[in-house]
Parts: sequence; C-alpha cells; structure tokens
Amino acid sequence: MGQPPERHHAIVIGASIAGLCAARVLSDHYERVTVYERDTLPPEPAHRGAVPQDRHVHILMARGAHEFETLFPGLLDDMVAAGVAKLENRPDCIHFGAAGHVLGTGHTLQREFTAYVPSRKQLEWQIRRRTAALPNVQIVQRDVNAPRFDGERQTVTGVELSAPGGNEFVTADLVVDASGRGTRLPSWLDEWGFARPREQTIDVGICYATQQLRIPNGLITEKVVVAGASRSQQAGLGMLFYEDGTWGLTTFTVNHVPPPQTLSEIHQVADDVLPAPLASAIRQGEPLGDIAFHRYPVSRWRRYDKLQRFPAGIVPVGDAVVSFNPTYGQGMTMTALQAGHLRRLLDSGTRHLAYELARATAKTTYPVWTMNAIGDLTLHGTEGSAPWWYQPVGSLFDQFLGAAETDRVLAEWFLRRFSLLDSLYMVPPASIIGRAVRHNMSSWWAQKRATAPVLDPDPVPGR
Ligand SMILES: Cc1cc2nc3c(=O)[nH]c(=O)nc-3n(C[C@H](O)[C@H](O)[C@H](O)COP(=O)(O)OP(=O)(O)OC[C@H]3O[C@@H](n4cnc5c(N)ncnc54)[C@H](O)[C@@H]3O)c2cc1C
Repeated sequence: MGQPPERHHAIVIGASIAGLCAARVLSDHYERVTVYERDTLPPEPAHRGAVPQDRHVHILMARGAHEFETLFPGLLDDMVAAGVAKLENRPDCIHFGAAGHVLGTGHTLQREFTAYVPSRKQLEWQIRRRTAALPNVQIVQRDVNAPRFDGERQTVTGVELSAPGGNEFVTADLVVDASGRGTRLPSWLDEWGFARPREQTIDVGICYATQQLRIPNGLITEKVVVAGASRSQQAGLGMLFYEDGTWGLTTFTVNHVPPPQTLSEIHQVADDVLPAPLASAIRQGEPLGDIAFHRYPVSRWRRYDKLQRFPAGIVPVGDAVVSFNPTYGQGMTMTALQAGHLRRLLDSGTRHLAYELARATAKTTYPVWTMNAIGDLTLHGTEGSAPWWYQPVGSLFDQFLGAAETDRVLAEWFLRRFSLLDSLYMVPPASIIGRAVRHNMSSWWAQKRATAPVLDPDPVPGR
C-alpha cells in the first residue's frame, strides 16, 4: 500500500454547473481549490458567451433541485426569494406532453412533489455565488491550455495556463476536467500514451429556436409547459415562467428537421403541439430580444468506465463525460449526481478515484441514457442501430403514456420517474404495467362499443 493521495491543491477546469459542483465537493477535502474559467463571469444572473445553451429553456428536475440543495444548503430558499417559481404538489402548474400524449396531471398528487423553475442563468449564478464565498475556493478567469502529465509517475501534476509570454504552470494534486462537451481530454490521453475512451453516440439532430416573451398576466396558470416530439410530430417545445416574470419559450426540432426561423413559425409550432388556450396566450406574448438558435447534433457518452488504464491525478465530470439529449432536461441533474459520487469517493479515501468515479457515473448514466435512446430511436424516429428489445419496450412505453393521459396514478408514476425521483430506471413494476394494460383494454372496449353499428332492435321481416 502506498501513501494516501496528497490533498493540498485541486484545480477545476470550467466554472459552469459541473465545475462549480465539483469545487464545492473538493473544498471539503482539499486545502485549496482553484477553478479556472476562460469566460467572463458576470456579477449578476446573465447570459454567458461560453455557455450558449443558457439562452434556451433549462428544466431543473425535481431530483436535481434536491441534489443541488444537498450540495449548497439554502440554495432553493434563496432562489424562491429571488422570485423563482416553486411548484409544491401543484401538478396543475405543469402541462406535460410526451410522444404525442398529454399526461392527466390536473389533480392533487398522492405523494409529495416539489419542483423549482429557475432560469439557467439564475441557477448558475446562485451556485457560483455560493462557491465563490467558500473560504478555500478561488474562481479565476484564465484559459487552461492543457493539464501537464508526468510520464515517469504516470500522473497529472497540474495545468498550464495560457499566457502571453508562454504557458504558466500551476501544480495540483488533482485536476477536474469540467470543460464541457468540447473537452480535449480524449486527445490529451492519446498524447500521454493512453487509449481514448470509446464514444457512444445517438444522432439526435436537434435544433433549438428560443424566444423570450412577456405574456399578459392571467392568460396561463401553468408555470411549466412541455410538449415533447413524437414520430408524427418532429417538433416540440418547452416553456418556463422565469423569476423576472418573463417566459422562456424554446421550440425544437429533432432528426435534423430545420427549426422555426421566425416568430410566426414559432407560433405555428405552438399551435401544432399545444391546446388552443396555451397557443393563443403565446400569440398574445410580446417578444423580448431576438430569437436564439442552437444546434445539438449528437448525444455523446464517453466510456471512461471501460478504459483499462487511466492516468492518476485527473478526473472528468459533467458534459465532458456524458451529454444527454437536452430536450429531456436531464444534464444538470445528472451532473449534480456525479458531484454526489465524487463526494462519497473522496469521503471514502479511495486511491482509485478516477476508476471508481467513472464506474459510479456509468451506473447512474446507464438507465437514463438507455431510456433516452429508446425514446429517440423508437418514439422520435431517430435513425440508428438499436438492440432488438428497444422496439417492444418503446411500444410498451407508448401504450403506457397513452393510458397515463386519463389515469392519474400512471401519470404521477411517469412524472416522478421523468423527474428522476424514486429511481433512475423507467421500467414500470408489474402492478403498474398491469394497470396500464387494464386501462387501455377498458378504453378500447368502451371505444369499440361506442363505434359499433347499432342493430335494429326490432327488425321487421321483409322491410
Ligand atoms: C441546448 C441545450 C439545452 C439544455 N437543456 C437542459 C435542460 O433543460 N435541463 C438540464 O438539466 N440540462 C440541460 N442541458 C445540459 C446542461 O446545459 C449541461 O448539462 C450543464 O451545463 C453541465 O455542463 P458542464 O458544466 O459540464 O459544461 P458547460 O456548461 O458546457 O461548461 C463548460 C465550462 O468550461 C469552460 N471551459 C472550457 N474549456 C476551458 C478551458 N480550457 N479553460 C477554462 N475554462 C474552460 C467553459 O467556458 C464553460 O464555462 C442543455 C444543454 C444544451 C446544449
């Protein structure tokens, strides 16, 4: 057994959601934590150039809110004080459509369910403010050129910061790569003599078009409006009521279908996927600023958990490991879960941090990634090869959602699972499947009876 790892200085690359969560956890275990961020960090909630997705609707899952609160106690109350909507057991505040079905959630839920609706810029700013206030954490605006690798010791020893006269080296006992989807870690591994991680991808071909709106009071009682895409309708939308009283309205298309380009095309999507009162309220909204666009071609999971060898002194987190189809709204929540893994492993004093973190991350990623893949490949019609069992599971799921339109127990079950509460697995237990099947059977019989030709009860022979 060697010495336990030194824990003097940890460096985090990137001060977005993953980097800030990692820094929070590291601050309990390292004497000093430095977060390097190349972007300018605004002093109040504001959009950031390096995080272009922050202009688009970001759903915070109920599970994510809980995980963020565990990392940053008091965060949720502070957000509510800043005007963020809190939906406490209020399913009537949510309009939820998925794969062409609208869940019947207009009733009191049987179990406690609390959701928060911050804008992405509000959430990131609240987390950054709290991280920056930690006495042993510094957030510094610098661009990290690359981590430095010591080939003899097979370990990362720090990072090189880009500087006008040449790179500047800063030592660290651990470097956390939270630089997002565009991470260069696979290339660095290659340079250092390690294998690149295998990549799992799904060619989702998503395009976003977002318009911020001011909608006259009283037109919409919901605070969250979601209408997912379906095989027959390759466009959807998400709309959130923000803390400043405005609405973020994101329309999206799947499978490389071009997104709406104008406000009237955005209105058209709303007309197609929403009930008339909601679509009409959107038409009455006053547009604020320009339409923002974003392309998200592929969901990507870098399988660090499958590598045989990995250097010491560095771990990747957040979108640098796995970036989920954004239309399902899971990325920030899954990032917060990874921070929970990091915390548990640092508490345990493991000497195999990278390996164990990759394994723990893979364990929580697998069910969510798989359900997304089933949704993409079977319900949205995304092209790609799929195991034989995706199609039957997708059909079962479609039937389940159909039953959840009018069965409140099924709707609640779906809403909790979709929010990543209870379990990350979407597989319904036998009792819930049985309920869906019975429900669909009786609906089918009722429909058949209603549409059966009426026989003349008293036929007159020869007439
Ligand atoms: C269009 C879209 C919509 C989304 N919607 C949702 C949603 O509804 N709900 C949800 O939960 N998630 C959503 N996500 C995902 C969510 O945005 C991410 O999961 C989340 O931001 C975590 O990302 P991250 O911190 O790993 O990386 P990022 O947010 O990409 O941040 C990486 C940071 O690293 C910095 N950086 C990079 N390289 C360097 C360097 N060399 N030196 C210094 N700094 C560096 C960047 O400037 C940036 O600040 C969405 C994503 C997209 C693209």
